[in-house]
Amino acid sequence: MTVHRPAEVSRAVALSGTFRAGGTDLAERRRRGNLGGDVVDLRSIEGLDGIDVTADGARLGAMVTLDAVAAHPDLNARYGALARSSNGLGTPQIRRMATLGGSLAQATRCWYARSGMRCYRTGAEGCPARAGDHRFHVVFDLGGCVAPHPSTTAMALLLYDTTVAIAGGADRGIRDLLGDGSDPTRGNTLGPGELIVGVHLGPNDPGERTAYVRATARRLADWPLVECAVRLRLDAGVIVSAGVAVGGVAPIPLRLDHVEAALAGGPATTERLEAAASLAGDGASPLPGTRYKVGLLRRTVLAALAETAGVVR
Ligand SMILES: Cc1cc2nc3c(=O)[nH]c(=O)nc-3n(C[C@H](O)[C@H](O)[C@H](O)COP(=O)(O)OP(=O)(O)OC[C@H]3O[C@@H](n4cnc5c(N)ncnc54)[C@H](O)[C@@H]3O)c2cc1C
Ligand code: SF4
Repeated sequence: MTVHRPAEVSRAVALSGTFRAGGTDLAERRRRGNLGGDVVDLRSIEGLDGIDVTADGARLGAMVTLDAVAAHPDLNARYGALARSSNGLGTPQIRRMATLGGSLAQATRCWYARSGMRCYRTGAEGCPARAGDHRFHVVFDLGGCVAPHPSTTAMALLLYDTTVAIAGGADRGIRDLLGDGSDPTRGNTLGPGELIVGVHLGPNDPGERTAYVRATARRLADWPLVECAVRLRLDAGVIVSAGVAVGGVAPIPLRLDHVEAALAGGPATTERLEAAASLAGDGASPLPGTRYKVGLLRRTVLAALAETAGVVR
């Protein structure tokens, strides 16, 4: 195995091998023997770790660490859903190493795939989790793979008008990076050699409020069962616009458009928040072992809405 350490993006995308950023996901997959071959280590490339927040939006390099995102004052002030969700995941040690690019491109957490079983994600046909132990899997079954998308940051970026800058391929919006969830073989649309070099978040609304809530089986160091990020713009107690994104429930993070529509245009009362959150499970198609997540999804969305609106329940 050769570890390449290119100093430039153009060299990195010309090399053959698996990109390594912080290595927190990659190292475990290699240790388990799921992934071999050469490594293209990105840590020698300069200029991919900047954070720049202006009135036109925010630009973050792919090698920005998640603790840098979580601690950045301007991101906290203006892109709170991203900063707060970055601060909520993993452990302080993980967040110090893990990068934004690696967070978006990380592999599925499904224990079947990670233990090397044959399935869509490991180059074979079929999904043993469907008839097996899928208690942490999806409630919106889009067909094929039923593992939830693992990326908290991807969920948060759905709330902003986010473009992902890619070397070795075309830039694309965050939705296009994630795909529609119907391809069971992968969790994003990155092709071989395509390198995320950064993300650009569009301008935000002044005075907006955000919250991030995760429901977990363990308090620390675990992926959430369900997570929700909310972005609300309020004017004199009336919700002018709402963004509600959820993770842990589908092969891609989702925006809940129908919940957002039920919120916008009226006051942020407990009754309206409850009515909107009760819609969060509409259209769900849970597996036998994930029915419990439908109610959990509604409760998590309500908790995030109430926190954002400052409503005491
Ligand atoms: C205990 C624990 C709890 C965790 N909880 C959560 C959680 O709740 N939510 C969550 O989202 N994550 C969670 N994580 C995962 C963590 O966020 C990821 O492991 C991390 O973000 C990956 O980043 P990295 O820089 O270490 O990526 P690496 O491990 O270096 O790479 C991960 C993958 O991305 C590819 N890659 C890396 N950088 C790029 C790039 N710039 N362009 C294209 N491909 C690239 C690599 O080839 C590899 O396939 C948790 C991890 C642990 C250990
Ligand atoms: S849920 Fe996805 S990753 Fe898990 S076994 Fe099924 S196809 Fe493989």
